[in-house]
Amino acid sequence: MAEIEEFRAETRAWLEENCPKGAIGPGQVPSGSTKVKIESPDTQLWLDRMAEKGWTAPAWPKEYGGGGLNGAEHRVLLEEMREVRARTPLMGMGLSMIGPTLLEFGNEEQRQRHLSRIVRGEVGWCQGYSEPGAGSDLASLRTRAEDKGDHFLINGQKIWTSGAQFADWMFAIVRTDPDVPKHEGISFVLLPMDQEGVTVKPIRLISGTSPFCETFFDDAIAKKEDLVGELNKGWTVAKRLLQFERSGQGGLGAGGGGRRGRRGAGMAEVAKEYIGEESGKIADADVRAKIIRYNIDSAAFALTQRRVGEENRSGKTLGEATSIFKLYGSNLARDGAEMRLELMGVQGLGWEGDAFSSQQLGATRGWLSSRAITIYGGTNEIQMNIIAKRVLGLPD
Ligand SMILES: Cc1cc2nc3c(=O)[nH]c(=O)nc-3n(C[C@H](O)[C@H](O)[C@H](O)COP(=O)(O)OP(=O)(O)OC[C@H]3O[C@@H](n4cnc5c(N)ncnc54)[C@H](O)[C@@H]3O)c2cc1C
Repeated sequence: MAEIEEFRAETRAWLEENCPKGAIGPGQVPSGSTKVKIESPDTQLWLDRMAEKGWTAPAWPKEYGGGGLNGAEHRVLLEEMREVRARTPLMGMGLSMIGPTLLEFGNEEQRQRHLSRIVRGEVGWCQGYSEPGAGSDLASLRTRAEDKGDHFLINGQKIWTSGAQFADWMFAIVRTDPDVPKHEGISFVLLPMDQEGVTVKPIRLISGTSPFCETFFDDAIAKKEDLVGELNKGWTVAKRLLQFERSGQGGLGAGGGGRRGRRGAGMAEVAKEYIGEESGKIADADVRAKIIRYNIDSAAFALTQRRVGEENRSGKTLGEATSIFKLYGSNLARDGAEMRLELMGVQGLGWEGDAFSSQQLGATRGWLSSRAITIYGGTNEIQMNIIAKRVLGLPD
């Protein structure tokens, strides 16, 4: 106990001394992409200082640029960062998905080459999984990779590739053997996006934004040294990466729990503003009960995340059980956004214009994007299938 308190005091002192003013409170969090400008010198300085300390990837081993912190130390670091309102210095698929996967499946050379660039925020990654004919049934993917000696020649198409237009590298699953059962002919490769054979076309949404893209491969190249795991055994690697992705979405990331407990924060205030207030309470008893139930569910979920995080002292991400957290967390996010919108009535249906406040416009957009979390990383139905088969062991 004394040791952890000592660590807390040192951490607090270091943060107070090293977190620049411009990295306090909300603002830009770099993804590592070399194609996205870091807007303020303080954001860059904060990233550099945290990377130097190993704290952009606090739990990764020190030899790959991480901080080597154990679970308790990691939680303390996050708590202290919240205390001084220090912004997260770096995020993205490098840290949350491909990095942990390389720690488990990458060879030493791959770890040395890729992980150090991820922790320093020098590379942005995207995920090449889904294809026009392979979403939930991902193993039906058809993008072909031919063995050409020192490299694979890749032809085919991916879709819904989030952030592909800004990514420097992609991790992708490709078909390397079409003549065996579908799960057995897939390999997991890494490839640079800036090459002749890769074309990215942003998908324009009705909102005008393009959060994801179509990615086309016409004789694109992935070097043999960037095959992760064994040839034709990529399905195992791909599934593990999805567990890391779902674990992040389900709030099981480092230091798990806590933050999600504040999901219902502000809901009562919104209700008082739009429904009315009587003696300090929300005027409508039904709405009051609904919000209390939601806040209890959010708090219980946060505590469960925390308990699982603490029980899991080995620091290893859960396996198939990550689907439970992904499913429950997605539903909470969706229901919370829905409730906020209902409370606001027509004021929660604005898209633009002076008739709506920024909070109201934010609620509309929040409601729309809350639908996405029930889809990406595997839909709710797919999570329920995994829980039924792999966690509960129910028959097909
Ligand atoms: C915001 C966002 C970002 C994304 N980013 C990426 C990315 O970066 N990289 C990437 O590779 N992909 C990405 N995706 C794609 C995402 O992984 C797929 O959309 C998802 O896996 C579902 O596939 P699909 O869209 O083809 O739907 P389908 O697989 O066609 O599913 C359609 C419907 O049928 C249901 N269904 C399908 N199969 C079953 C079954 N066996 N049992 C019960 N129900 C079933 C599904 O639940 C769904 O409701 C993203 C998606 C979104 C929304």
